[in-house]
Amino acid sequence: MRMLRMNWTKTLVRLGKNQANNVLKLLMARKLTTPSLASMTLDFDDLEIAKQWLSDTSNWGEQKVVGEYETQFARWNGSKYAFAFMGGRVALSACIYALNLQPEDEVILPGYTCVVVPNAFHFAGIKTVYCDIELDTYGLDVSEIEKQITPNTRAILLHHLYGLVCRDYKAILDLAKLHGLKVIEDCSHATGAEYKGRKVGNLGDVAFYSSERSKVLNTIQGGIAVTNDYRLGKRLQEYYDQAPLPENDWIDKQLHNVILDFYQFKHSRRWLLGDLYSALYGDKRLISTTREEEQGIRPAHYGRKMPAPIAAIGINQLKKIDRYNQCRRKTARYWEQWCEEKGYKKPTAIEASVPIYLRYPVLVEPEKKRDTLWAFKDLGIIPGVWFVSHIHPSQTLKGYPNADRAVNQCINFPCLLL
Ligand SMILES: *Cc1c(COP(=O)(O)O)cnc(C)c1O
Repeated sequence: MRMLRMNWTKTLVRLGKNQANNVLKLLMARKLTTPSLASMTLDFDDLEIAKQWLSDTSNWGEQKVVGEYETQFARWNGSKYAFAFMGGRVALSACIYALNLQPEDEVILPGYTCVVVPNAFHFAGIKTVYCDIELDTYGLDVSEIEKQITPNTRAILLHHLYGLVCRDYKAILDLAKLHGLKVIEDCSHATGAEYKGRKVGNLGDVAFYSSERSKVLNTIQGGIAVTNDYRLGKRLQEYYDQAPLPENDWIDKQLHNVILDFYQFKHSRRWLLGDLYSALYGDKRLISTTREEEQGIRPAHYGRKMPAPIAAIGINQLKKIDRYNQCRRKTARYWEQWCEEKGYKKPTAIEASVPIYLRYPVLVEPEKKRDTLWAFKDLGIIPGVWFVSHIHPSQTLKGYPNADRAVNQCINFPCLLL
């Protein structure tokens, strides 16, 4: 009781503060909201689906809806096999299993990534070797890869960051073939981006996508592993079959997070409703990466596959993905123009590619990354800062000059200005 009262006091104080702030903003004729960097593809229809599943828990364990999501995703993506998990990171773990990587094997990855990526390898006992990136698309620099290859190297992980198709895509695939290495594609930011008429993720051996709340599709947490190879598909299936479903309590939280996020990040009156729903459901909020994961520890809930209610949200998100990606491309033209006017280098859309611009990355002066308030004043937005360290969010590396520059200077503009 006492705890509850204290929480309510805190909540009320926060609500009061925020709303006093909003009054100030109104008085100064400022906008009450800025475009969010997460959950901008959630709409009332997603909210209704979340509420429906919350009102009836009897079908939470069924397989049909999940199979439907996987089939629809595979068809839309142009892939043969797709398996849905509770995170892109778990889908990556499935890819690692599929490739039969063994302890002591080495994998080359960009020295500019999210901590959950190396974690998936470390959880399987595999050694990660980092390689510098290029600054046109923030992907692996192919000219740096060969220096890192040893007799133990088995695979290369490439990524398509911010929704761009990585500059050296073709060259990395060729190099891997030459050395007999497998290629894993991290498509977490690039669901729907195309290269030579095919969706990214279909040219390497295996690939994974994320539907975490800040990514292209949004199921709060979620991910998909794909392959076009029959034998690798069999291995993904094996991993999938042993993966447990999340506990009902977790699913309940996740569905509540759809409601919470919608009111907090998307609704046009989020300046007020965000606070109210935080007060209602704030205790159910899920965070994407736990403190222990940041330190490289495998959390207890890791390795789950996707349950029906979350797949149902995924199916609905899939219906809207092309439309939202089209909006992102349109906004990218606006940021392109801004770069031209201000004299900043634009990210590269490589030949024969169709990027989807999850965010629009620009290298700015380091002080403009350290404090992004200028962007609020000049542009009415608050940019993202992916990534703030080489192994985001807290581990740093030495000896990767381009990654250093990206860490110190890359900010990312929102591409859904709703
Ligand atoms: C978000 C992200 C992932 C992992 O996706 P989750 O669904 O959050 O597990 C992997 N790689 C990169 C570059 C990401 O940004």
